[in-house]
Amino acid sequence: MEASKAGPIRGAKGRPLATDPEHRQITVVGAGILGLWQALVLARAGHRVRLIDASAEPFAASASRLAGAMLAPGCESDGAPEIRDFGEQGLAYWRALYPRLVNAGSLVVAAPRDQAEAARFARATAPPQTLDAAGLAALEPALDGRFAAAFYFPDEAHMATPDAMAFLLDAARAAGADIALGERWAGSASTPGIVVDCRGFAAQDMLPDLRGVRGERILIRTRELQLTRPVRLLHPRHPLYVVPWSGDRFLVGATVLESEDAGPISVRSALELLGAAYALHPAFGEAEILETGAGIRPSFPDNLPRVEIRDGGRHILVNGAYRHGFLLAPVLAHAVAAHLAAGTPHPLVRLT
Ligand SMILES: Cc1cc2nc3c(=O)[nH]c(=O)nc-3n(C[C@H](O)[C@H](O)[C@H](O)COP(=O)(O)OP(=O)(O)OC[C@H]3O[C@@H](n4cnc5c(N)ncnc54)[C@H](O)[C@@H]3O)c2cc1C
Repeated sequence: MEASKAGPIRGAKGRPLATDPEHRQITVVGAGILGLWQALVLARAGHRVRLIDASAEPFAASASRLAGAMLAPGCESDGAPEIRDFGEQGLAYWRALYPRLVNAGSLVVAAPRDQAEAARFARATAPPQTLDAAGLAALEPALDGRFAAAFYFPDEAHMATPDAMAFLLDAARAAGADIALGERWAGSASTPGIVVDCRGFAAQDMLPDLRGVRGERILIRTRELQLTRPVRLLHPRHPLYVVPWSGDRFLVGATVLESEDAGPISVRSALELLGAAYALHPAFGEAEILETGAGIRPSFPDNLPRVEIRDGGRHILVNGAYRHGFLLAPVLAHAVAAHLAAGTPHPLVRLT
């Protein structure tokens, strides 16, 4: 991957673009998690930011609204070691911003038949702590007697997705960003200044190697048990998990399917997800199903996000967050801000 290495992008009179009054206007296209973080960080950096989204209802057409949303750099380093470092940076940015982030770590358990998968996961991620049954019960009393062992990643966090996205939208507005919902971007020709393009999977028209990876999840409600932190149940096909949201809601996710079909959840996926919740604790069998949903994760071939600087710096594409949009959105936003301010290179930023 070619990192950016040039100095600041220059405007009409040779001034760095970010300080050139003619170019300080930035239109962020797309109010998914990447666009929300871009709008907030760029507005706080002093740019005149306009955040637009085609959907009149906030987040309704975004993949982001379907996310977990777990910030789990350790667990997610399984198969992608780069995620750990970038993810730890992302976590730090969230902690500095979002007071309702739940900093309770993550647990990973495996059914007796999946012990080989547990051993493979431990080799790939080096969990900071391995708990026995008593240690697991001490952390999550509801899981007392359910599993002989668990991996514990104490430094991870999670949040309830809709609340976090609403918070970011308000924070961007408070930082001075102008928010225009129900406005579809039709191309750079009619947009003044810099475009930061965060259209997610819709940017496939300009990013031919962007593919969609379908993810399905189910929101359930029960008062029968309480969890404090996300619990992952290792599974040979999907990274299944239950995330406790506020009150009595739990998000059960998520399939990872090489498909660009955003249609309703399949029976097979619903069985797998609900089966995972039931395997975690039979009390989930009595839960109410509140909502099912499927989203398309925008993904590049290496499953890492990237920032592409095009058209002399006037068109900046931020995309490919795959399973890590929440985790990495702040890192990508600070990388764009640093690039605009001083041409600072970043391993996820490419000049094309
Ligand atoms: C089931 C599931 C679970 C997940 N769990 C996690 C998790 O736990 N942790 C994590 O970090 N990530 C998770 N992810 C991944 C994360 O959701 C994605 O990486 C992220 O949503 C990608 O965000 P985005 O902003 O690029 O795209 P989107 O959220 O899709 O946003 C794109 C926005 O652009 C708008 N748009 C498109 N075209 C136009 C146009 N022409 N004009 C104006 N607006 C336009 C759309 O309306 C949309 O709002 C999960 C994903 C799924 C599907």
